[in-house]
Amino acid sequence: MSKRDYYEVLGVAKGATGKELKKAYRKLAMKHHPDRNPGDKEAEAAFKEASEAYEVLSNPEKRALYDQFGHDGLRGAGAAGPGAGFDSMDDIFSQFGDIFGDMFGFGGGQRRRGGPRRGADLRYDLELEFEEAAFGTTKSLTIPRHVDCETCDGSGAKPGTTATTCGTCKGRGQVHHRQGFFTLSSTCPHCKGSGEQISDPCPECDGKGKTRVEREVEVTIPAGVDSGTRLRLRQEGEHGSRGAPKGDLYVFLHIQPSEVFERDGADLHLRQEISFVQAALGCEIEVPTLEDTTTVTVNPGTQQGDKKILKNQGLAKLQGSGRGNIIVYFDIQIPTKLSTRQRELLEEYAEESDIDVKPAGFFKKMKEKLSS
Ligand SMILES: [Zn+2]
Ligand SMILES: [Zn+2]
Repeated sequence: MSKRDYYEVLGVAKGATGKELKKAYRKLAMKHHPDRNPGDKEAEAAFKEASEAYEVLSNPEKRALYDQFGHDGLRGAGAAGPGAGFDSMDDIFSQFGDIFGDMFGFGGGQRRRGGPRRGADLRYDLELEFEEAAFGTTKSLTIPRHVDCETCDGSGAKPGTTATTCGTCKGRGQVHHRQGFFTLSSTCPHCKGSGEQISDPCPECDGKGKTRVEREVEVTIPAGVDSGTRLRLRQEGEHGSRGAPKGDLYVFLHIQPSEVFERDGADLHLRQEISFVQAALGCEIEVPTLEDTTTVTVNPGTQQGDKKILKNQGLAKLQGSGRGNIIVYFDIQIPTKLSTRQRELLEEYAEESDIDVKPAGFFKKMKEKLSS
């Protein structure tokens, strides 16, 4: 597939100024930003295409070559050369992150180089008993995270000394080198993109500016949560660098199944065993609920699988108000052993109902009689 014209990609005129180019690119980058279009390959391709066009047109030397020779003018500089496109999204963020980095709280800030970086988000997996999820609870979590080193105040420099501007990149975090006509840029190998250098590292944190601490975080679990629920605690993640905002803490919930109920959203299913006599004659039985027990009427003539619905006795609904239901299914039990008296009564019942039953052992006795 042939490449589209770079001016066309950005939707600008041939004579567009640097400011117009930047504005057009920013608009496209925002629209196709991977944080806004997770997993969308088309958006990613559009994002890369716009970045490539801007990469060339925002550079006067490359733009001049492109204006004169088109895409062909940019070839021949090797795979890493301009016009070859970007291999990875990280390359784009490291080069142009500043243009749109502030627009995205999640991820965008972390990708910026050479400026303050937002702290990383943290994940915590929390197991809850069924009852804790049913009624809601408060949990105290111990979260290990990295905080600014107290000895050096997060600077990484030994107290009494200060970090100085990186001499290699002059604080930009990027270095440029020329290759033929072209200027290529990459992350400064000396300061790893921070733009600073520390000649006397802090002994406490080894110059990293961070130490690992464990911190207690209280988290309120609302009633009715289910496995897969994700709670977000703002600013409880890692510290940002140089005063940038903290990341968030995400608590992923895993709920133990109930020993009594089977859960279906806010509804609870309960299998309740009853005797065939109770089913036939009807009765009242006690069944468990979330809080206590309640009385349920078994109608005379209840069949296997018949159910009773206990309205608003289920779990709290997370969306909207109210509670789900408890659905009681009757599971009719047939005795596996009968006393002599029970057998007599049932045989009498069978006779009364004209039900054809042969007494147990009947055939055995017949066989004995015949063979004697
Ligand atoms: Zn330190
Ligand atoms: Zn540097």
